[in-house]
Amino acid sequence: MIVAKFGGTSVADAAAIGRLVEIVRDRVAEQPLIVVSALAGVTDALLALAREAETGDPTSLDDGIASLLQQHQRIAQALPAGGGAFEAIVADAEELRSDLEAMSGRAVTEAELDAVAGRGELWSSRLVAAALEVAGLRSVWVDIRPVMITDARFTRATPYTQIVNQRARDCLQPLCKVGTIPVTQGFIGSTPEGTPTTLGRGGSDFTAALLGAALGVQRVEIWTDVDGLMTADPRIVSSARTLARASYDEAAELATFGARVLHPATALPLVRAGIPIVILNSSRPEGSGTTVEPEAELEKLGDSPIRSISWKRGITVINIRAPRMLGTYGFLRALFEVFERHETVVDVLASGEVSVSLTIEDRSRLRVLLSDLAELGEVWTEEQRAIIAVVGIGLRNTPGLAARVFNAVWPANVEVISQGASSINMTFVVREEDAPDVVRRLHREFFGSD
Ligand code: ASP
Ligand code: MG
Repeated sequence: MIVAKFGGTSVADAAAIGRLVEIVRDRVAEQPLIVVSALAGVTDALLALAREAETGDPTSLDDGIASLLQQHQRIAQALPAGGGAFEAIVADAEELRSDLEAMSGRAVTEAELDAVAGRGELWSSRLVAAALEVAGLRSVWVDIRPVMITDARFTRATPYTQIVNQRARDCLQPLCKVGTIPVTQGFIGSTPEGTPTTLGRGGSDFTAALLGAALGVQRVEIWTDVDGLMTADPRIVSSARTLARASYDEAAELATFGARVLHPATALPLVRAGIPIVILNSSRPEGSGTTVEPEAELEKLGDSPIRSISWKRGITVINIRAPRMLGTYGFLRALFEVFERHETVVDVLASGEVSVSLTIEDRSRLRVLLSDLAELGEVWTEEQRAIIAVVGIGLRNTPGLAARVFNAVWPANVEVISQGASSINMTFVVREEDAPDVVRRLHREFFGSD
């Protein structure tokens, strides 16, 4: 058995779903279980509708639902004898309408948001199941909610793994075994009482990983809109190459710093079970993608000690200078308590004798953060910065590497440098406007081209 998960762009329109059908057809012998995201843009549109309902504007509600239905109908029209898929979507959209009307003009709860946001996956999976049937592949639409039982932390629910494992084996495995292809939803679940939940934005990969681990599949395929993990962001480095293989550690470091192909937490159930993840491009299904495995046999990229350069823009650096931190303890704890209290994630940290620099991406609580930090010392910020991370197992034992990195970075100014304990990444901060050139120069230095 395998799990094949298709992201929003891989089910965006009739052409994308046509490619999906052929991808699945090629894998029938491997007894695939199909997990899908909502059509591209639909989750955002649903959440926007809930927000508009709050403000009590009924005209935008009608328009919003109509345009969502159209998006699904265009696909349904390409499916003669679609087995009532679109009718089911229309009926569900009516329920959505009354849910939204009931929210009108008052604060929406997180539970209500989840019920609204999760409909996109219910709809896309209906279309995909119908498309497979029309193409002559025996498939069945499965509602994942009674399988994916979670706690009640709405908008970021945590699945109860033991229940999920048991139910996946009881409900999904028998279908695969008799050659039926189950088509089900990523991202959504329900509480033990049956109230809908979601696993958090981008949660479909996590669903695929959980189901793959539960069923002990041979591999989990993540079909997306990039060729896999790459030596650099192909939008700025035209000669960037796809990595044939990567270790889980590398994939996690890359994901943390901007190459958001795979969220590190996603992989955990598979890491534990030793199941490989393959990242593939659904617009170029003939590519072989990147296989992420526990003990990857890493291919040599020339003689480069590094394997990838990733970057993330929109970063704010916060500096705190506190002479009283010299020779005292408890300072860092006090510092991190501030970030914890304001629920702000710190990405990179570098600390000296009397000062600490760290980076954040989420500026929504910046003002209060800064005023609380001012109690610890002198505080100043640098805005519009970018993080650059150089990643590779080879970083562990390569003398002189830092010199090569910073030579390539020059003449851009480097602001915060940190090397993680995993010692497979070296991370630093530059001005946002310098970042693309820095990435290109690093790629030329380590991979011979930009
Ligand atoms: N459709 C959901 C989202 O956009 C889940 C996913 O795509 O993984 O967040
Ligand atoms: Mg999505």
